Amino acid sequence: MIKAVVGANWGDEGKGKITDMLAENADIIVRFQGGANAGHTIKNHYGKFALHTLPSGVFYDHTTSIIGNGVALDIPKLFNEIKSITDQGVPAPKILVSDRAQIVMPYHVLFDQYEEERLGGKSFGSTKSGIAPFYSDKYAKIGFQVSELFDEELLQEKVERICDIKNVTLEHLYHKPALKPEDLLDTLHEYKKMVEPYVCDVSLFLWNALKENKTILLEGQLGTLKDPDHGIYPMVTSSSTLASYGAIGCGVPPYEIKQIITVVKAYSSAVGAGAFVSEIFGDEADELRNRGGDGGEFGATTGRPRRVGWFDVVASKYGCRMQGTTDVAFTVLDVLGYLDEIPVCTGYEINGEVTTDFPVTHLLEKAKPVIEKLPGWKCDIRGIKKYEELPKECRDYIEFVEEKLGFPITMVSNGPGRDDIIYRESKLK
Ligand code: GDP
Repeated sequence: MIKAVVGANWGDEGKGKITDMLAENADIIVRFQGGANAGHTIKNHYGKFALHTLPSGVFYDHTTSIIGNGVALDIPKLFNEIKSITDQGVPAPKILVSDRAQIVMPYHVLFDQYEEERLGGKSFGSTKSGIAPFYSDKYAKIGFQVSELFDEELLQEKVERICDIKNVTLEHLYHKPALKPEDLLDTLHEYKKMVEPYVCDVSLFLWNALKENKTILLEGQLGTLKDPDHGIYPMVTSSSTLASYGAIGCGVPPYEIKQIITVVKAYSSAVGAGAFVSEIFGDEADELRNRGGDGGEFGATTGRPRRVGWFDVVASKYGCRMQGTTDVAFTVLDVLGYLDEIPVCTGYEINGEVTTDFPVTHLLEKAKPVIEKLPGWKCDIRGIKKYEELPKECRDYIEFVEEKLGFPITMVSNGPGRDDIIYRESKLK
């Protein structure tokens, strides 16, 4: 059976921790979208790791880690990431890379930088990892598929063609040095050597695994609000962040995805630009940011301070609905233990009317948060293992959120570690 672990919001909800935890009882963990532009932070007995390309199951020796066809594959980054974890004492993981995955080329990273430079103050807040230029090329049908590394004749013809196209923009729009076909060819030869041991027909591998009743985890990157179709376009990422895309991003039947675990954080955070209705500022924000996550809300890949805000019912309810949630994992709840009262954004006021339905971007820009306050629990809930042992105010907060979301919270995370998890029965299930 297949389970998906995905995010309801802007990302950084703690998907890495939940995947790492569920991977204990899984056989295969798959990345199906995104690239090395975002990351997961995982804390376990080997240490603390920031993963950008590898799925969060690489720390177990019984699992196979897969990079699906939907991923923007940065081969040197993958290579270095494998090295960095084995250097820290993690046994060499079993890794497979789809022969249909496409390759992030060095010029994608350059185009990302040049475009941000060109846009100046109007930039999209890209992490400049080449993700948007990569996906643009994929859909313009001028990308390099891993399988193509093994056809020398095709490569030689294609590098010429790509240089012809790219050099027009480099010269006339960005005024930057031209690409040379022989340099691209050298890069591709190097990439072939690096990736060769891992290349596999992933959809066939997964098809066979399903027949053998293996458990497969799909690990999403970012969250619903960054989806190019259903998110806050244009401040979105370039591949779908939804569980339903999991079927496409690694080539499995959609009906095999039986459980969709949507990770929802007990407050909000976002990296990069875009509407964020429940955002807070000043000292109040600094305090939440510094106390947040595990060691503060700063990007796992970029180190950028994350924008923070109160829990947003409207965004999270929509985020869960678009994912097709069967279970909510409610994370980072322990962080809120310092507050006397916990503000929650329960509605958006747009043009004088209050709604709980998440609007399209141009209306979202006008939304003002409707805030309700719940009593805080004023203590440290880390280490608690049973739901009934949580303070009443804390359970009330969880149950308030669950009722507003309309999806069952079956897991509550009260710390960054694998064991910091409380399973609970939900009336909604
Ligand atoms: P992801 O991209 O969704 O995997 O999220 P990130 O890894 O970027 O951010 C989650 C951060 O919160 C990481 O530093 C985790 O170690 C940490 N974290 C996850 N769950 C919890 C939790 O329940 N409590 C606390 N305090 N930190 C958590």
